[in-house]
Amino acid sequence: MNLILMGLPGAGKGTQAEKIVEKYQIPHISTGDMFRLAIKEGTDLGKKAKAFMDQGDLVPDEVTIGIVRERLSKADCKSGFLLDGFPRTIAQAESLENLLQEMERSLDFVLHVDVPQEQLMERLTGRRICPTCGATYHVVFNPPKQDGICDNDGTELIQREDDSEETVARRLEVNVKQTQPMLDFYHDKGYLVSINGSQDIDKVFEDIDQKLQTLV
Ligand code: AMP
Repeated sequence: MNLILMGLPGAGKGTQAEKIVEKYQIPHISTGDMFRLAIKEGTDLGKKAKAFMDQGDLVPDEVTIGIVRERLSKADCKSGFLLDGFPRTIAQAESLENLLQEMERSLDFVLHVDVPQEQLMERLTGRRICPTCGATYHVVFNPPKQDGICDNDGTELIQREDDSEETVARRLEVNVKQTQPMLDFYHDKGYLVSINGSQDIDKVFEDIDQKLQTLV
């Protein structure tokens, strides 16, 4: 099965990706992970990508398309793949179409884990961290026993700068702008499958799984 997984930050895309690859034994291809690994290993690719990533910019299409092309040609992708974080531009989406055509393959589904933005704000801004032991909590979904205090060591919990309302709102806005053209592109081509990501984790996976069962 040839899949793309899409979703805004906080939508639970990572969790669902893990479940999909575990059940269907297809490789999880995350361009972000590939770039981070390349940077860690100090490869040429890492050197090219680092400056862009540090600035929060997209890595140029030709570089990104190149690594996806190389990755999809590996033997483990024969039975399928789950692309995550790619494509992010129309040029990438079109290159992927061409690439798959060359390989005489095609996409099956573009799964969109859909969660309303207000709910994402609640999920993302509710995170609290213990500065002493690093434990993470959520004011609504995983609260500590005593409000604002770490269960492990009694330290007062803090909110990371990244999780402030202003920063989260900005991050979401940038992501919506980037994601919407991809959703439109795949909707028009008939690949888009919208999954209600507001449900609990297992139910979200059940819905994804039901769709994937049509392919086996
Ligand atoms: P992610 O982990 O998917 O959020 O990706 C982290 C960073 O890697 C992004 O902010 C980009 O700089 C870069 N990146 C990942 N995927 C792509 C892509 N498809 N196109 C361009 N840049 C990407």
